[in-house]
Amino acid sequence: MTEPLFDTLAIIGPGLIGSSIMRAARAHGAVRTIVTSSRSRETRKRVAELGIADKVVETNAEAARGADLVIVCVPVGICGAVAEEIAPHLKAGAVVSDVGSVKSSIVRDMGPHLPDSVHFVPAHPVAGTEHSGPDSGFAELFDGRWCILTPPEGTDAHAVKRLAAFWTLLGANVEVMTADHHDLVLAVTSHLPHLIAYTIVGTADELEAVTRSEVLKFSAGGFRDFTRIAASDPVMWRDVFLNNKDAVLEMLGRFNEDVAALTKAIRRGDGDALFEHFSRTRAIRRGIIEAGQDTSDPDFGRPHGHDD
Ligand code: NAP
Repeated sequence: MTEPLFDTLAIIGPGLIGSSIMRAARAHGAVRTIVTSSRSRETRKRVAELGIADKVVETNAEAARGADLVIVCVPVGICGAVAEEIAPHLKAGAVVSDVGSVKSSIVRDMGPHLPDSVHFVPAHPVAGTEHSGPDSGFAELFDGRWCILTPPEGTDAHAVKRLAAFWTLLGANVEVMTADHHDLVLAVTSHLPHLIAYTIVGTADELEAVTRSEVLKFSAGGFRDFTRIAASDPVMWRDVFLNNKDAVLEMLGRFNEDVAALTKAIRRGDGDALFEHFSRTRAIRRGIIEAGQDTSDPDFGRPHGHDD
């Protein structure tokens, strides 16, 4: 096993993503020591029982103190408050990061609290499932998935390199881009699909002419895949939409125009337009499989399975 990349890793918020990082970091020998803190006593107790950290502490400040790499893994909406809480306790030269699904608001909310003596490198591992909490994490979550780093201008290049090496060791492919660009890309690849899933599952639920038992019984017709995405954590997704409003509204506008075009094709009986559209989307699916981001097996053939 190679030399650890960081001495002490602090994970603040050992939920699905935080606990997966701890498991993967340990499995790959990426760090020497893992410290973690969580808001609730139950989660702290559970993480201690799982034995996935070397030390479980009561406060975020305590976890951050002396750590060489601090990764904040809480919902996007509270990352700013956590940054404020840990700021006075950070070790000079530490790399501070996060895993939030939105990046511009993270830079805006966390950045101003952090001292100049640390290196702030926001990140988003584009890997996840609809499950939450420390029990749902697993070490292979990041295998072959992308982790996007969005360092603000002027960030120390060596710190970016060290964090990139960390994520690479955990199995991820790393890409660097601006926070704004990240938010635009993810609005269409992740945020909009989640909004559509939340909408369609709600629509079916409110349809009086179709009973709930029929919805469940015939769900394999397509609905089932939407329900998995729509089961994702409500707090996390509320925060995503509140914090990526502009990009999501932009993509939603385009989506509504495309739905209107398809509506028109159906109303006019324009089979050619429908065939042309569906053929184009089928090619996109093939491209995703060729890029190794999914398999043609149903449900991806792995324990959990979608990206956020
Ligand atoms: P999770 O499993 O629900 O875990 C969240 C963690 O944050 C828990 O340790 C929780 O502590 C803590 N927390 C929640 N609310 C808090 C509050 N108000 N104050 C302090 N701590 C709080 O969530 P997750 O799915 O790992 O998501 C964490 C982050 O990863 C989010 O920013 C999300 O955008 C990002 N992300 C998620 C996915 C995904 O698929 N889920 C993928 C990529 C990135 P307690 O359990 O003690 O309450």
